[in-house]
Amino acid sequence: MRILSGSRPTGHLHIGNYVGALQNWVKLQNEGHETCFFVADWHVLTTAYDKTEELAALSKELVKIFVAVGLDPDKSILFVQSGVKEHAELCLIFSMITSVPRLERVPTHKEMKEQLQGATDINTSGFLLYPVLQAADILMYLADGVPVGEDQLSHVELTREIARRFNYIYGCELFPEPQSLLSKFPKLLGSDGRKMSKSYGNIILIDNNEKHLTEQILPMITDPARKRKTDPGNPEICPVWDYHKAFGVTEEQKEMITDGCVGAKIGCIECKRILIRNMVTIFEPIWDKIRLIDQSPGYIDQIIFDGNDKARRIAQATMEKVRSAVNLLF
Ligand code: SF4
Repeated sequence: MRILSGSRPTGHLHIGNYVGALQNWVKLQNEGHETCFFVADWHVLTTAYDKTEELAALSKELVKIFVAVGLDPDKSILFVQSGVKEHAELCLIFSMITSVPRLERVPTHKEMKEQLQGATDINTSGFLLYPVLQAADILMYLADGVPVGEDQLSHVELTREIARRFNYIYGCELFPEPQSLLSKFPKLLGSDGRKMSKSYGNIILIDNNEKHLTEQILPMITDPARKRKTDPGNPEICPVWDYHKAFGVTEEQKEMITDGCVGAKIGCIECKRILIRNMVTIFEPIWDKIRLIDQSPGYIDQIIFDGNDKARRIAQATMEKVRSAVNLLF
C-alpha cells in the first residue's frame, strides 16, 4: 500500500498524538509499505493565518519529532507541504468540482467553527476549503491508505468523493479511493481527566524528560471512588488505566494492578509509579534521539530538502496527468 498522513506544526505534539498516530505510522513504515508523512504547514493558515511567527521553526521541530519517534527518511518520504507547491494547484482544481454546501456539511467544519468562535476570524474561504486541501494532499500521492483518528473519517470520505467525481467528470481512472486506517488505541485523556488539549493546559508533551513526566503523571485524576488506599476501585473507569494499556503494561503488571485496585491492595501512587517506569522505557530512546539531533545542526534541514525533492517528483508526475485529464494548455 501507499500510505500518507500528516500533522499540523502547532508545537505541542503530545503523547496522545504518539499513541493515536505516530506509533502507528512507524509500524506501517516498518511493515514495508510505501509511506509518506508530511508537515501540514499550510493547514495552520486555515485557522491561524495571523499567528505565523514561529511557523517555520515549528515545522522543523515537527520533522525532528517524526525522526525521533522512529520515522526513517531512508524508508519514508518526510516532507513539508509548503515545499511542494503542486498541493496548492491540485487543491484549486478540486475546489472547482466540490460544492460549498458539501463542505459546510463536513462535521469538523461545524465543530471547529463553534470551538473557534470569537478566537479568530474563521469566515475565510481557506477555512471552508481545508478538507479540499487535505484531499489534494492525499490524492497527490495516489495513496491507498490514510491512518486517521475517528474525527478525520469524514475527511477521508470527502476525499473518496472528490476522487470519484474527478475520475467521472474527466473520464479517467487517475485517482484511487483511499481507505481510512483507524488507529486501534482510544484517545488518552489529559492529566486532569478532560480531553487532552493545549488550551486546557493538560497535555503531556512527547519532547519531555523523566522529572517532568513524573510531575504530570503523579497528580493525575483516578477512579473518584479511591479516596484512600483502602477504598476499592475500578480500573475500567480510571484514565490511568488507559495510559497503562497504551504504554506497555505487562500481563503480570495488569493482573497485579487489577487485583490490587479492585481489592484495595495497592495505592494509586504505586500504580502510577509503575506507569511512569513503563513510559520512561518507551520515551527515553526518543528523548535521547531528540538530544542527539539537537547536536547536529543542518541534519533536519537536509532531511526536509531530500524529502521535499522526493515528494515533488511524485507530485509533478501526478499533476502532469491531472492537467492532461482536465485539458489544460499548461
Ligand atoms: S490503582 Fe491504578 S487503576 Fe486503580 S484507580 Fe488507582 S490509578 Fe487507577
